[in-house]
Amino acid sequence: MSDHIVLTSHARRDKPAEPIQWGAPTAAERGPVIASLTDPAQRNVIGTHAGAYAIYRALAVASGSLQRAHRPDLTDTAPAEAIGPHAQWGDPDKIVSLDPWGHLVSTVFADRIAAGFDIRPTIAITRAHINMPELGAAIAAGRLKPDGDILYPNGDVRVTKAAIDPVWYLPGIARRFNIKESILRRSLFEQTGGMFPELVTRPDLKVFLPPIGGMTLYFFGDISQLGKPETRVACRVHDECNGSDVFGSDICTCRPYLAHGIEVCIEMAQQGGVGLVVYNRKEGRALGEVTKFLVYNARKRQVGGDRAETYFARTECVAGVQDMRFQELMPDVFHWLGIRRIDRWASMSNMKHGALTAQGIEVVEQVAIPDALIPADARVEIDAKVAAGYFTSYTPPDANELALAKGRGLNE
Ligand SMILES: [Zn+2]
Repeated sequence: MSDHIVLTSHARRDKPAEPIQWGAPTAAERGPVIASLTDPAQRNVIGTHAGAYAIYRALAVASGSLQRAHRPDLTDTAPAEAIGPHAQWGDPDKIVSLDPWGHLVSTVFADRIAAGFDIRPTIAITRAHINMPELGAAIAAGRLKPDGDILYPNGDVRVTKAAIDPVWYLPGIARRFNIKESILRRSLFEQTGGMFPELVTRPDLKVFLPPIGGMTLYFFGDISQLGKPETRVACRVHDECNGSDVFGSDICTCRPYLAHGIEVCIEMAQQGGVGLVVYNRKEGRALGEVTKFLVYNARKRQVGGDRAETYFARTECVAGVQDMRFQELMPDVFHWLGIRRIDRWASMSNMKHGALTAQGIEVVEQVAIPDALIPADARVEIDAKVAAGYFTSYTPPDANELALAKGRGLNE
């Protein structure tokens, strides 16, 4: 390890030691993603592992609690369940925002790791039991029936879960958004305050590990059945909403929809299919929680009260956009899992539905949240979304209905 500071603001003449052939059919031909900081000469990507936590790692190194040269001991960390490879892994345009080999590096790149390359997983797969009070309520109401295998009488559910860090193939991301790669690189460079100069100085480095949250997958049932055409799949793609998901805040339908999605997934697993919840770290429509709470205040303080007709406008006033989640990248995870058809899709978002079908993934049945599960203060959100064309099982509200203040005031 060098004691010199290695500047990335000037192009280096040397090519990366291990080039990446994104979308190559085998791991050996594709090559490893090497984001190591322990030996900068090995790097063949821009950014670092666990990018969203890089600043904490910097603090740990600066304060002396983490050795700069530490390499992970990967003994016994291999996936608890096998996933892939699937045919979709060998298509450079089907998966552009994660490394399909990210969970398998300790086996498929064992020779290179043994040769001294610092190659780390970007995906980890383990098993767990989960339990949410809503599932107990669903059992009590007779909607769910414990089977002692997937769902236990105490409400415990047996799951496999996978954590995925983002790995972006920049030419593929640019194609997905129909923009020039150079425009994408410049915007990423500028909007991170110049954090990654290689975005503009190293056009030969095509892969970027962005400093953003990734996703967590929760699987219900036998995941070895995924990728087979006869396997029925139920799914909820959920974008993070900490206030509702964790704390039960009632201004939106997020946690009720998540719990309902899990219920749909359990049913599918009990019928021999596979259930899947995709949990994306995209807090507050990827605008962040500070923006979200500012919008809540603006909604509740506006003349005329909190109402559906101004729901999207209040977000746009503060954030400049209604939404920055960009569902264009969301289908990648289905390609990774070999899923070509979703039989039951627990979502009312037309954006998510459109993104899936644009990627050739069939959605058979869309499942709206049952009306009884919508919290009172969330009426504003749900009416606004339905009026904007979201899928639902009930009649869209008319203009008079949308003008009614249905949300609580700030002091109630
Ligand atoms: Zn929410």
